[in-house]
Amino acid sequence: MNSMAFGVYIHIPYCLQICPYCDFTKYELGKILPPENYVSLLTQEIRRKAPVILAGSSQRELSTVYFGGGTPSLLEPRLILSVLEELANAGFKRIPGKTEVTIEIDPATVDQPKLEAYLAMGVTRLSVGAQTFNERLLKVAGRKHSAQDTITLLTLLKNARVNYSFDLLFALPTQTLEELRADVATALYFEPSHLSAYCLTVPEGHPMSKGRAPDSEQAEMFELVESSLASQGIFRYEISNFAKPGFESKHNLLYWTDQPYWGLGTGAHGYFPPGYSEEFDRAAPWGTRFWNGPSIQLYEKEIARLGEGWQLHRDITESQLEILERHQALTDFCHTSLRLVRGLEENALRLKFGDSVALHVVEILRTLETSGLLQKTSAGWTMTNQGRLIANYVFEKLTFLRHELPPE
Ligand code: SF4
Repeated sequence: MNSMAFGVYIHIPYCLQICPYCDFTKYELGKILPPENYVSLLTQEIRRKAPVILAGSSQRELSTVYFGGGTPSLLEPRLILSVLEELANAGFKRIPGKTEVTIEIDPATVDQPKLEAYLAMGVTRLSVGAQTFNERLLKVAGRKHSAQDTITLLTLLKNARVNYSFDLLFALPTQTLEELRADVATALYFEPSHLSAYCLTVPEGHPMSKGRAPDSEQAEMFELVESSLASQGIFRYEISNFAKPGFESKHNLLYWTDQPYWGLGTGAHGYFPPGYSEEFDRAAPWGTRFWNGPSIQLYEKEIARLGEGWQLHRDITESQLEILERHQALTDFCHTSLRLVRGLEENALRLKFGDSVALHVVEILRTLETSGLLQKTSAGWTMTNQGRLIANYVFEKLTFLRHELPPE
């Protein structure tokens, strides 16, 4: 059996409301097919594709399972359980005490019985979409839950001593530094082991782009979040993610450390790096990315077409499959490594891409170091605070075209 870590992401596209800044595939509950029918599509997807994803083995150990959305907690727990059981029947094995199983939950949708049901089925981690504890700003963000809903839920989780994370959204229109300070203080009261703090990103001209703090104040907001959390032993490990040591999201780390994952459900993405299976390597020596139809209608059609003997590199439509070339794999490697505080390791770069490519990249890394955007570590390079503020610029410098690299 292949010894790489391996995770499964399951997309649940139902939401209580449609938030104006959200890019995910989502639908208001009641506006599309009922959840039972959606889960039946997931079940068919697992059954039909499992033999290929298992790549010749009869079973595969799951490092992580992640129910994301959308709002997975809108589903009855028995439906979540049925997906986990289907995965197990297909050969994807959860290891008690080892497999991380996360579910994203909305504050207005989880009570004590639901929490107990999650824990009984083996959920090990809950990710709460808190966003802000300020009623006014919750309305600005278009959220239906109240701050009191979040506080009630976090009290429940804290008392149950479960492992939970929550999301904070900042730099919202009209939000002040003092309001963010109050949010962070409330967040810390609940002693999360993990917290994701996202600076709102909306394109220019979007209704939510007006009335936001200027760039210099947004930089202060970043600094406030980082220093307040660090003072309580919760450290940044990725651009937007903070954790107590040992509580980093194993699932998200798969995305940032070149590990394989399989995405199920509408719009879900999967990735298989080189070395996952000999068959995949023959078809795509630098790795494969693929994704499901990004609307429920497309997804339903895809599942209806799935036949026996489905093949990844043969049966996915061209617009949903990317057979990576070396320059694309290198770009992904640089971007994902630099998202992490541990940074880009020179040895790993050399090992995957060879000496001449490594030499070319190191030259660019040194230039970024001289500009104060990266700093040298014992193993490689990591982003400085200044670099994180203009991370897109750093990523642009590390985006490669085919002809820029030495010949293979
Ligand atoms: S609840 Fe989450 S997934 Fe749903 S629309 Fe809002 S931000 Fe997007």
